[in-house]
Amino acid sequence: YLDIRNLKKHYGEGEALLQVLRGIDVQLERGEICVLLGPSGSGKSTFLNMVGGLEPADSGSIVVNGTNIATLPDKKLVEYRRKELGFVFQFYNLVPDLTVQENIEVCAYLSKNPLPMKPLLESLGLYEHRHKFPHQISGGQQQRCAIGRALVKNPGLLLCDEPTGALDYKTSKEILQLMEEVNQQYGCTIVIVTHNDAIRHMAHRVLRLRDGVMAEDSVNEHVLPAMQLEW
Ligand code: ATP
Ligand code: MG
Repeated sequence: YLDIRNLKKHYGEGEALLQVLRGIDVQLERGEICVLLGPSGSGKSTFLNMVGGLEPADSGSIVVNGTNIATLPDKKLVEYRRKELGFVFQFYNLVPDLTVQENIEVCAYLSKNPLPMKPLLESLGLYEHRHKFPHQISGGQQQRCAIGRALVKNPGLLLCDEPTGALDYKTSKEILQLMEEVNQQYGCTIVIVTHNDAIRHMAHRVLRLRDGVMAEDSVNEHVLPAMQLEW
């Protein structure tokens, strides 16, 4: 489903040249959940932003569901992001003047086949809170709302950049459990950037960035693989 080959990216030039990614290769099956680890500044967000079409690559290919998005013209890239992609950030970026349900509905308009609202709100644990505004719910609930917003268009690929960075240990675990449920229910492929050890040990597939390369690409044997569908 996701096939990344020899991906390279630098910032700056001359003395300020910073080679962030020096040739990354990653392959993920449809429906896999993987965590992406690495020290601060190792390029995790850069990598995720490139897979999400937010940042151009220097070279290499990023094939998502058969399309190389590294070479797509802007218009097609916007289409890819609208159709295929959900993105969850550390800071939830909810619209303060919209309710929980409205924050999610806004993104449903981007899709021809949005997920039905009630079951989605229920699986997020937000049904009772659907008429509240972001400031009236907890951080964990706000993050669930942001996840709902990313999921409502039923994306093939869900990219999460430190989704639990601002949450405590217990809430972080709940968020990962929610991701697993979502993965089982909707079959999306999920990449989660995290510093969180609780999440690291719950994932089947583990990637680690160091010095611009994927220094680790391993499987946690004690964790069952995520759902893999042959669609
Ligand atoms: P963290 O765990 O702290 O979020 P990260 O692994 O996500 O770190 P990135 O944000 O991808 O790291 O940054 C990788 C390197 O690239 C850093 O040294 C950063 O300063 C640099 N960098 C990121 N974005 C830019 C940019 N737009 N212009 C110049 N340098 C950048
Ligand atoms: Mg980052």
